[in-house]
Amino acid sequence: MKIKNMMSVDLEDFFCDLPFEQWSNFESRVKKNTKKILELFEKYEIKATFFTLGYIADKFPDLIKKIDDSGHEIASHSYAHLDIRKTSKEEFEKDLKKSINTLQNIVGKKILGFRAPYFSIDKKSFWAMEVLSKYFKYDSSIFPVKTPLYGVSNAPRNIYKPNLENPSIEDPKSNLTEIPMATHRIPIIGNIPIAGGFHLRFFPYFYIKYGLNKINKKGNSFIFYIHPKDLDPDMPKINEYAWHYYYNLNGATKKFRKILEDFEFSTVRDFLKLN
Ligand SMILES: [Zn+2]
Repeated sequence: MKIKNMMSVDLEDFFCDLPFEQWSNFESRVKKNTKKILELFEKYEIKATFFTLGYIADKFPDLIKKIDDSGHEIASHSYAHLDIRKTSKEEFEKDLKKSINTLQNIVGKKILGFRAPYFSIDKKSFWAMEVLSKYFKYDSSIFPVKTPLYGVSNAPRNIYKPNLENPSIEDPKSNLTEIPMATHRIPIIGNIPIAGGFHLRFFPYFYIKYGLNKINKKGNSFIFYIHPKDLDPDMPKINEYAWHYYYNLNGATKKFRKILEDFEFSTVRDFLKLN
């Protein structure tokens, strides 16, 4: 029998990495791109956790209802796609409450989990863990890698209870569960990100499959993620976006299908047996 893993979607529009004030200049593509993801999940009988921006939920409550009705889980990805490293504690908590209220009002269920935009929990923003522990049962923001953009390179690679002051270490008494993003460990070199998104588009499929299989062979489960924009070859050009936003958008859907074919997945809620 195959080991169960967790599938996740960071539910946001292609322009959500720009400052919030600019979002209204763009035409939304999130509904169309999410429909494609939902069809794939239906085909492969997969349930996933959708880390949803409050802003998207406010704009498209029907989409969020449909996702919830299909048996997927709605979790939080903040309201306005804040980079926590550049946000004050007060500002973060205010945004978080707004996101939780928006989502709960639509699905009528408690929101149990969170993923930080830009995986922006690192040593500059470890304070966020204590805030998250007040509102959530689990967090899935820690990326145990060293990259110029994000990462907590020495954090555990498998599910653990994080110390709230320093989530790179375990604390069995913690009331939060951390689901770190999937990595492939190469001795001396370090951890290579293979959790989805850009990594899915960048690395050859056999390499990602090898790394994920290695996690399962050790008896551990991983979490994978995708953005609706990762599967959109027609994503409009945004000048502020670097090359990696556009790399291999054409090849991503085929690789994503293979992931869904080759591995078993559930929502985080079901995986952790939360209700
Ligand atoms: Zn995001």
